[in-house]
Amino acid sequence: MNKSRRQFIQRLTFSTAAIPLLSSWVSPAAHNIIAQDTSGSQKVLRVALMGLGGYAERVAEAMQHCKRASIAGLISGTPAKLEKWGEKYKVPESSRHNYENFDAIKDNPNIDAIYVITPNALHHNHVIRAAQAGKHVICEKPLAISAKEGQEMVDACAKAGVKLLVGYRMRFEPNTLEVVKLRQAGAFGRLKFFQGQCGFVAGDPAQWRLNKELAGGGSLMDIGIYAINGARYMLGEDPIWVAAQETKTDPVKFKEGVDETIQFELGFPSGAVASCLSSYNISHLDRFFLSGEKGFAEMWPSTGYGPIKGRTHQGDLGKPHTIHQTTQMDEMAAIIFDNKTPILPIDGLTGVQDLQIIEAIYKSCSSGRRETIKLA
Ligand code: NAD
Repeated sequence: MNKSRRQFIQRLTFSTAAIPLLSSWVSPAAHNIIAQDTSGSQKVLRVALMGLGGYAERVAEAMQHCKRASIAGLISGTPAKLEKWGEKYKVPESSRHNYENFDAIKDNPNIDAIYVITPNALHHNHVIRAAQAGKHVICEKPLAISAKEGQEMVDACAKAGVKLLVGYRMRFEPNTLEVVKLRQAGAFGRLKFFQGQCGFVAGDPAQWRLNKELAGGGSLMDIGIYAINGARYMLGEDPIWVAAQETKTDPVKFKEGVDETIQFELGFPSGAVASCLSSYNISHLDRFFLSGEKGFAEMWPSTGYGPIKGRTHQGDLGKPHTIHQTTQMDEMAAIIFDNKTPILPIDGLTGVQDLQIIEAIYKSCSSGRRETIKLA
């Protein structure tokens, strides 16, 4: 794909469309950005990036500021990209691979982990092969395109004795963690309600995100998953039922199996409910709201690249902005090397559970009924 086409697609996808700091990467110093402190050993995680597309580019730039993670390998189907990225990030030719031969990383002692940043449907094959090469695996969201495939990936990593982490960057974001901390301390009292609105207008109709074979679904797989995540970590519970309905205004662009907009309600064991919206055709949707008997939290924007902003009944959240992917990779090094337990889980099982919730939402859209959710 040429550069202008890639930039076009990037502009039209969530990661770039929903967020103010999209088109240009800004140095941490310029924005007074702080990196989250990492404790324990300082062993650096040497990472091979797989799938050198829009998001990998963002990850690669963010990794330039990591204390504990470095780019040590590259995997791409495009030789020109391997050369360009290899020179830019000083990755030797011996650590540049394509999708056919990357299994050889098994014999490369200079790579500790493979970060899979390819289209959703390819994660299953790529993660299992990375595990079989004996490397830890970081996989982008959604973990897979079905819970069954996700579980197979979890099992493959367990069998190979490597860790599997999902690229849930919000789970390291300081303002998000501040709300979680307040919730854990009981600041909101008994929680009653969460609202998660996540969406953007998907542009190019030819992009893989609108291709069921490669995406596994539509907006829910890509952006609605943030509302599912938010419901779980803001309420601190897992849902037991869902009632959902889909709205499609453009069946030519959003074909069968590629959801355009889904509204879903989740019910939780405590009696709390969540009301969520996932869309590929509504702009400015990036907002969380949490309500309890003693207080509230509002985050807007809530899941974009930041700065994340929000307030509670106690006042503004105001934690300093971090580059999400820098923090994520430094923290992942600590999780992999020091067995650090993250505040919010990012393991493969969490990714499988999100896929089980996604499947229950799709089922409810089809059946028109409330569906029970039973998580692994
Ligand atoms: P992209 O289209 O920009 O990049 C995808 C890359 O995969 C490209 O380099 C492409 O050449 C390569 N590729 C390999 N095989 C391919 C195939 N058969 N068809 C199409 N492309 C193929 O996409 P992206 O936005 O970088 O998304 C990649 C992954 O990252 C997805 O799983 C997505 O959900 C995830 N993502 C996560 C975030 C986040 O904030 N965590 C943001 C954006 C994307």
